[in-house]
Amino acid sequence: MIEMQGVTKKYPNGVTALSGVDVTIKQGDFVYVVGPSGAGKSTFIKLIYREEKPTEGKVIVGGINTAALKQRSIPTLRRQIGVVFQDFKLLPLLNVYENVAFALEVIEEEPAVIRKRVMEVLDLVGLKHKARMLPTELSGGEQQRVAIARSIVNSPKVVIADEPTGNLDPDTSWDIMRLFEKINERGTTIVMATHNKDIVNTIRRRVIAIEGGRIARDEQGGDYGYEA
Ligand code: ADP
Ligand code: ADP
Repeated sequence: MIEMQGVTKKYPNGVTALSGVDVTIKQGDFVYVVGPSGAGKSTFIKLIYREEKPTEGKVIVGGINTAALKQRSIPTLRRQIGVVFQDFKLLPLLNVYENVAFALEVIEEEPAVIRKRVMEVLDLVGLKHKARMLPTELSGGEQQRVAIARSIVNSPKVVIADEPTGNLDPDTSWDIMRLFEKINERGTTIVMATHNKDIVNTIRRRVIAIEGGRIARDEQGGDYGYEA
């Protein structure tokens, strides 16, 4: 599903955020990306959804080499990938329903299909009854549920999450993790950068540790391995 071959990312300011990264993530995998601040985790994540391009090497997502991708083909790639952020990134003037529907409206899906799909995913995240509320009327955990609903509404093969529980209290973080597990159980690949030691050490999955821009560890069912 995701393959990196000899990937190096050097930012224009001269900082090398990743170097010589080789990794294969299969369809249906659930992967935590861990490591100290500044290690390169966000860069790793951004390369997958093509927010950044590698300086050297290849990033292949669902058979598409992201570096060779023409600007106009980026939406095709993004349709295979749902993205969830620490700070939710909901559109503040749109209600819950509209935030989720937006992803389908931009690809000109039929209105009847949009309605059905949006209500299905809102049901899945437990927010059908709050469809008409604005993001500001919701708790942080609820806002993250909306963001997750938006990320899966067009049935992507992979969901990328950058610190999705970083702004949430522990109980809410567990609820959000259960939701990611549920999505993964349906066959969706999950790649999640996280600093949440408790979660990584309890819900055991593949752990990729990045340190100084290199993969320091890649273990199935591995532990977090750092002080929280
Ligand atoms: P992490 O997510 O593990 O904290 P990042 O991938 O954000 O690590 O950052 C890795 C390194 O790249 C850091 O030294 C950071 O300062 C640098 N970096 C990240 N983004 C940029 C950017 N847009 N421009 C320049 N340097 C960056
Ligand atoms: P439930 O019965 O739990 O309420 P459904 O089985 O009706 O949920 O699923 C709701 C919708 O969400 C379905 O259309 C399903 O395809 C979609 N869905 C659920 N999980 C995912 C996923 N991981 N990726 C994409 N779509 C998903």
